[in-house]
Amino acid sequence: APPVEKYEYQAEVSRLMDLIVNSLYSNKEVFLRELVSNASDALDKLRFLSVTEPDLLKGGGELDIRIQTDTDNGIINITDSGIGMTREELVDCLGTIAQSGTSKFLKALKDTKDAGGDSNLIGQFGVGFYSAFLVADRVVVSTKSPKSDKQYVWQGEANASSYTIQEETDPEKILPRGTRLTLYLKRDDKGFAHPERIQKLVKNYSQFVSFPIYTWQEKGYTKEVEVDEDPAESKKDEQDNKTEKKKKTKTVVEKYWDWDLTNETQPIWLRNPKEVTTEDYNEFYKNTFNEYLDPLASSHFTTEGEVEFRSILYVPAVTPMGKDDMINPKTKNIRLYVKRVFISDDFDGELFPRYLSFIKGVVDSNDLPLNVSREILQESRIVRIMRKRLVRKAFDMILGISMSENREDYEKFWENFGKHLKLGCIEDRENHKRLAPLLRFFSSQSEDVMISLDEYVENMKPEQKDIYFIAADSVTSASNTPFLEKLLQKDLEVLYLVDPIDEVAITNLKSYKEKNFVDISKEDLNLGDKNEEKEKEIKQEFGQTCDWIKKRLGDKVASVQISNRLSTSPCVLVSGKFGWSANMERLMKAQTV
Ligand code: ADP
Ligand code: MG
Repeated sequence: APPVEKYEYQAEVSRLMDLIVNSLYSNKEVFLRELVSNASDALDKLRFLSVTEPDLLKGGGELDIRIQTDTDNGIINITDSGIGMTREELVDCLGTIAQSGTSKFLKALKDTKDAGGDSNLIGQFGVGFYSAFLVADRVVVSTKSPKSDKQYVWQGEANASSYTIQEETDPEKILPRGTRLTLYLKRDDKGFAHPERIQKLVKNYSQFVSFPIYTWQEKGYTKEVEVDEDPAESKKDEQDNKTEKKKKTKTVVEKYWDWDLTNETQPIWLRNPKEVTTEDYNEFYKNTFNEYLDPLASSHFTTEGEVEFRSILYVPAVTPMGKDDMINPKTKNIRLYVKRVFISDDFDGELFPRYLSFIKGVVDSNDLPLNVSREILQESRIVRIMRKRLVRKAFDMILGISMSENREDYEKFWENFGKHLKLGCIEDRENHKRLAPLLRFFSSQSEDVMISLDEYVENMKPEQKDIYFIAADSVTSASNTPFLEKLLQKDLEVLYLVDPIDEVAITNLKSYKEKNFVDISKEDLNLGDKNEEKEKEIKQEFGQTCDWIKKRLGDKVASVQISNRLSTSPCVLVSGKFGWSANMERLMKAQTV
């Protein structure tokens, strides 16, 4: 017999396993979703590779997932005909944590500090492969990769610090390709090995897997069978001199076991939007992106003509765990399919500008080649058109939220993704018209609730030409600035730009509905109330005072001037027309530390 080799788990895996086995008790059933999603990933990988190497599919049967239970012994078998794993991959994938779902989970645990039985967390992230140990005390993985001519068996137990790998020798267990997981259920969890229970879980959790999932079910059909007549009766008949024998029949149920197709395999984005409910879209979202909250909005659309693709896009209700994703958009938020074959979730940057990297969804193109690469995407005219359409749809969705009767929805959106849109004002000139109506600011007349630029414009005075703003580090300091005095007196509204990025965004927009943005802290503020006679008088009276102050301050100021912008304060420091505003100055200083 081939040798059994023993391996130690990486320290993180041990910790995770310990946590799973000893602390996470609720919501155990997510194990099935996790294992089925791994099987589905493995099938996706194989299908993708087979595009260039069709031989990979030879002799392996259908691309599917089969789940069989042994109720009496509490065993579940999950078999996929996917890509499988080589010996090295078994060690890398099932003995260490380098993988997405699992490491995200660990990070979240660290973040929330109260490690332990947080059932929300497990529902939110799943814990990948190791979730098998939620219900099983022994797990066996038998797997065959097309890269290897041997099949290997991985075995691990709950509460153990090591696992073993050996070659599969049992001819009965040899697979043409793919992976079979065998779960030996814990005593209290044997109930999961009931075929109906598994069927229900698959329907609940895996209805959007695009490969067929079969479960082994007991079935029955009815048939009519002839029954022999009661001998006593026939005697009686004979006595009655009836020569003709009557035949009697009875209906019986014949039982047998067979594979039952348990999920709907047509991808949701190929269905007619009229037949898909909001709940379906939300479920698909939560399943596909491992989310636990419904999205704020979704959009399902098809484009035809020049470029053909189908897509479902979503606006999430929460920001992702890693807050730095705006700068580093390795978000895996867009799943790209070509003719229904999953290609990659690594092309977010090619399909969306980075400021919209929070949008999640699937895109299925009929026009791209199956062997599409980043280089092809970057140069493709088709992708440029797709990108334009996707961006437009994303804006439609966001605009939809902003027009929702429920103002809170947009407030939530703005809190999570407002920064992204402001970044858009800086990075995407072409979409200024779409971005500007979505911005929100506090103002001198609305210090608690943010307003839109449209609301500002509506509230403008008939003679007012510009949109006034002041940048500061908080609403309080904005409302205390002396620059405001004159404007408040005239009942002119002033936007408060209190987020460091606000001023840069606004400066990039330059204007909204043909009204220029004007910084009220700049030197040449003109409120349209010049009175030349009076100014001359004042200049004569105070000209010498100005010269004297300038002399005393020397190079510290560029000039000292008489101003008509104050009403109660005696003087104010303003920025030059072409210089940085005080706020920008502060920002630049902060950045050069
Ligand atoms: P994730 O799915 O987030 O990568 P998992 O813990 O669920 O993390 O899985 C770890 C890795 O193990 C997967 O990335 C994959 O490489 C491998 N794996 C798990 N199940 C299978 C399977 N059925 N077939 C092939 N590889 C698998
Ligand atoms: Mg997984």
